[in-house]
Amino acid sequence: MTTSEQLFEKAKTLIPGGVNSPVRAFRAVGGSPLFIKSAKGPFLYDEDGRQYIELINSWGPMILGHAFEPVEKAVRDAIQHSFSFGAPTRKEVEMAELITWMVPSVDKVRMVNSGTEATMSAIRVARGFTGRDKLIKFEGCYHGHGDSFLIAAGSGAVTMGVPDSPGVTKATAADTLTAPFNDLAAVELLFENNHNQVAAVILEPVVGNMGCVLPEPGFLEGIRALCDKHGAILIFDEVMTGFRLAKGGAQERFGILPDLTTMGKIIGGGMPVGAYGGRADIMNQVSPAGPVYQAGTLSGNPIAMSAGLAMLRYLNDHSDVYMQLEAIGNKLVAGFSATFEKFGMTYTINHIGSMYTLFMTDQPVTNFSEAKSCDLRSFGRYFHAMLDRGVYLAPSQFESLFLSTALTDTLVEQVIQANEESLLEVMND
Ligand code: PMP
Repeated sequence: MTTSEQLFEKAKTLIPGGVNSPVRAFRAVGGSPLFIKSAKGPFLYDEDGRQYIELINSWGPMILGHAFEPVEKAVRDAIQHSFSFGAPTRKEVEMAELITWMVPSVDKVRMVNSGTEATMSAIRVARGFTGRDKLIKFEGCYHGHGDSFLIAAGSGAVTMGVPDSPGVTKATAADTLTAPFNDLAAVELLFENNHNQVAAVILEPVVGNMGCVLPEPGFLEGIRALCDKHGAILIFDEVMTGFRLAKGGAQERFGILPDLTTMGKIIGGGMPVGAYGGRADIMNQVSPAGPVYQAGTLSGNPIAMSAGLAMLRYLNDHSDVYMQLEAIGNKLVAGFSATFEKFGMTYTINHIGSMYTLFMTDQPVTNFSEAKSCDLRSFGRYFHAMLDRGVYLAPSQFESLFLSTALTDTLVEQVIQANEESLLEVMND
């Protein structure tokens, strides 16, 4: 037994399923999860001393690679001044100033501790502002584990086969309307059938949680127009895409401005941080400026703010980071495509910037039902073949990969080689 396997056996007796977040348990791909001891730059090291090339990067935050020096230094400096005050700090002001500068649609912002908190709070504000109850979300989009969002949810919820979790009340579920991603007509119909009742439409502008799925041309524009027509708040959940697809996230990249934006992951530089922000008139509804309550003992935590600020400052000051990420993503996908061509393989790869998913299907993937048609057994084999070759992927078909600037040309070539060998293994199985 490896050390990871031993730890997992023990963990299962102490923690539900042995993990603190479901996808980590490797249920979708089989086998036992790796227990990670440390990470530096592009590499992860497990408890058995093996090294892996990182293509998840903590599900997004480590966009500059692990233990990035300026972030590490900021944390080291910050801990000398105690860990939490529960009182306002200079760093929170600097953080808010930087976020409102970087993210085009955000006038005012509130810091929280996770992406889940950000989306739960954003929907409460949207409901408070509009005086309406209903919410439109998209099948396969994941917005954290708030009750309202665990309806036709992606990510771990689909991986675990419980798209509608027990414990979510029927009344809550009834207020969440769902439509297929990229289907404007379905959204229009929901608006018509729920006239003046829809508070908000929430979506991942580029989806990461059913695998990487891009908005078709006109989709984001169409959603924006429908929200305007029906007086609903448009919420972009940029927990994954924020500060990744561009300095100002997907909204900058696609030139569509939402009313509210939820953020997480990169914004904390690896610390537990989330944020929601947007139009000043909407955000002024939040307590104590307005009547919509939302609070947090550790919100704006000084250590987390220090890490996040160092990360965002670096991204703000180095626009070459985004060109570098594009180049890394393009090189990787070109290499994968060359393999497909060489062996007559018909897999589908969805890609934008530093996000991609290789889907085990020969059909295009533009929504959740198409993503679900993938061959999950083949994905499990592919995943383990890559792991055997030292490449650490997300342990589920329904996830995007996240590249970092720490991936050198040589490492990208190693991943392309491992991919070729792994796909051949799957094909010949
Ligand atoms: N929204 C999106 C788009 C996400 O991808 C996630 C998490 N992967 C969340 C919200 C929830 O964030 P957290 O896990 O930090 O609660």
